[in-house]
Amino acid sequence: MDINNQNLKNILVQRGYISSEDLKKVEKFAKSRNISILDYLIEKKIIKEYLAGEIVVEDILLRKKYVTSDDIKQAEKFSSVNNISIIECLLIKGLINNNILGEAIAEWFGVAYFDLSSNPVVAEQVLRIPEYMAKKYRAIFLKEDNKNIFITTDIPKDLKSHISVFEKFFESKKNIKLFYSLSEDIDKSFKNYNRSLKARFIEIINSGRGIAPEIIEEIFNDALEYLSSDIHFEPQEHEVIVRFRIDGILQEVGRFAKKYYENVLNRIKVQAYLRTDEHFSAQDGAIRYIKNNVTINMRVSILPTLDGEKIAIRILSENIRSFSLSDIGLSTDHQAIISEASKKPFGMIVVTGPTGSGKTTTAYSILKVLNNSGVNITTIEDPVEYKIPGINQVQVNPVTNLTFAKGLQSIVRQDPNIILVGEIRDEDTAQIAIGAALTGHLLLSTFHSNDAATAIPRFIDMGISPFLLASTLELIISQRLVQKICDNCKMKDDLKSYNINKFFTDEYLEKQMVLYKGAGCKSCNNTGYKGRTALFEFLHITPEVHDLILKNPSAKQIWDLAKTQGAKSLFQDGLEKVKDGITTLEELLRVASPIHTQNIYDKK
Ligand SMILES: [Zn+2]
Repeated sequence: MDINNQNLKNILVQRGYISSEDLKKVEKFAKSRNISILDYLIEKKIIKEYLAGEIVVEDILLRKKYVTSDDIKQAEKFSSVNNISIIECLLIKGLINNNILGEAIAEWFGVAYFDLSSNPVVAEQVLRIPEYMAKKYRAIFLKEDNKNIFITTDIPKDLKSHISVFEKFFESKKNIKLFYSLSEDIDKSFKNYNRSLKARFIEIINSGRGIAPEIIEEIFNDALEYLSSDIHFEPQEHEVIVRFRIDGILQEVGRFAKKYYENVLNRIKVQAYLRTDEHFSAQDGAIRYIKNNVTINMRVSILPTLDGEKIAIRILSENIRSFSLSDIGLSTDHQAIISEASKKPFGMIVVTGPTGSGKTTTAYSILKVLNNSGVNITTIEDPVEYKIPGINQVQVNPVTNLTFAKGLQSIVRQDPNIILVGEIRDEDTAQIAIGAALTGHLLLSTFHSNDAATAIPRFIDMGISPFLLASTLELIISQRLVQKICDNCKMKDDLKSYNINKFFTDEYLEKQMVLYKGAGCKSCNNTGYKGRTALFEFLHITPEVHDLILKNPSAKQIWDLAKTQGAKSLFQDGLEKVKDGITTLEELLRVASPIHTQNIYDKK
C-alpha cells in the first residue's frame, strides 16, 4: 500500500501531530532515506508507534469504505470524551467488527489476515512450536504443505526480522508464510499450552511453598482467562471441587485435598473482609483483585454446608469486552428498529425476559450506541454490572434507602437526556419511569415478563394507565439465551431424529434442508456448544398498537395485531438461527415453544 498517501497526511495535520509546513520537510527527509513518513515520525519520536498504527488502520478503513468520514468524526468525539482510542470506539459502536479490523491491520503489515476466532487451531497445531518460542514471537502454527509452513502472529514485523529462527527450528527448505491474527485470538490459542489446574495444584502442593496463595492465584487467573462469571469451591468429605461457570454452564476445573482448604478459605475470607472465626452462618463480602493494572470486582458469598463452608464468587463483568448490537445476535432489521426507536428524544424502550436471559446486556448494548458526547446518560442499577466510560452510574443501596424509586426521582430532577433503570420491579418505579419518559427523557429498562406482548397487560395490572403507557412506550424487546454450536466441530445433523414438518414450511424442506450440530471437541469440552447468543422478539409500538393499548387489550390481541404488521416471535427468530447453523433445534426447543403461549393473560 502507499503509506505516503494524501489522506494519511491530512489526518496527521488535522489531528495536530505536525504542521503542514513541517510535513513538507519531513516528506523530503523521509524520501531521501527511502522510508515512509510515518516511520520517520516514529523514529524522531514525533508520534508514538501505536498511534501511527491507528492512523494507518483508520485510513485503510476509510479507503476500503468500511467506515465513512462521519463515522470517524463521531468516533473522534466519543474517543476524546472517554479517553479511549478511535478504533476502540468504532468497535464499541458496532461500526466495524473484529474481522474488518483484522483485515485492515493485516493490510498495514502487508500480510493476509487469518480469522482465528472462527477457525480456531487445535492443540496439536499449537504445540508444533514450543511455548517459549511461540510466546516470544507471538506465533501460532497453522498448517504446512509441500512448499510452505503457515504461521500466524500479531507482530508480523518482528517475526519477519526473526524468520531465520523459525527456519532453523523447522529444519526444512520450506518457505515460512506469515499471516496476521488479532492479539486476543492469539492469546486464546496460547491456552493450548496451559496444563490443567489439577496438574498445577499437585505441583504447588509438592513444592511446599505457600500453598493457599498460589492455589488461589492460579484459580483467579484461570477464571479470568476463561471469562468465567463464577468460581465455586465445593467442599466434599475428602476433597474440594473447584468449578467455573463459563457461558452459563458450571463445570469442574480441578480439585485438591481437603486438608489445604482451611488455609484457602481463611485467605479468601481475609481478602473479602469476612470473619475467619465464624463457621456456622452465611457471610457476604467483596474482593478487589488487581491483575495487569486492571481492578476486577468479585462478590464473595460463603455458605456453611455439612462438609464445610462453600465459597461462591461472582466475577462482576465490567472488565469483559463490550458487545455491539450485532455481537449479541440482533439481525440488521432489529438493529434498524432499535436505532429508529432510540432516535426519539423521549419515550420508553423495555427489554423483557426471565432471569438469566441476557436482558441487561442488551440494555447496555443499546446504551453504548446512544453514548455520544453530546448526551447526558444516567443509570440506576442493582448492582452496576458493567462500567461504561462517559456514563453516570448509580447503584441501588437499601442501607441508605437509595431504592430504584428514590434514586430515579433524584435522577429525573437532574434532567439527563437518557436514563437506564436496571429493572422496573414495583409500581412506584413504574410510575416515576413513565413520568420521566413523558417529560422529555429517553428511558431504557428491563422488566420481568415471558414475552413482549405480555409486558403491556402486566404494566396495566401494576396500575399504569393505558393512556400513559401508550403515550410513552416505543418498543418492547423480549429475549432468551441459547448456546451456540461450536465452530470448531460443527457438522451436518441427522434430520431423521426431528419431527421436521412441524417447524419448517415445505418450501424450505424441498430447497435445502440442512441442520447442524457440534460433534464435540477439545475446544468445547466435548459439549458441541461454545458461547451463547440471544433470540429476540420485537413489539414495535406502531400507531395501530398504540390505539389498541388504549382499549386495555389482552396479550394475545396485541400479538395478533403485531403479527399482521410483520412481528416475528422468539421461536421464529430462533428458527432463522437454526437454519443459519448458529444453534440447534434442540437448544431452540429448550427455551422457546412453537406455539405462542400467553394464556395467563388471555382472560378476556
Ligand atoms: Zn467443539
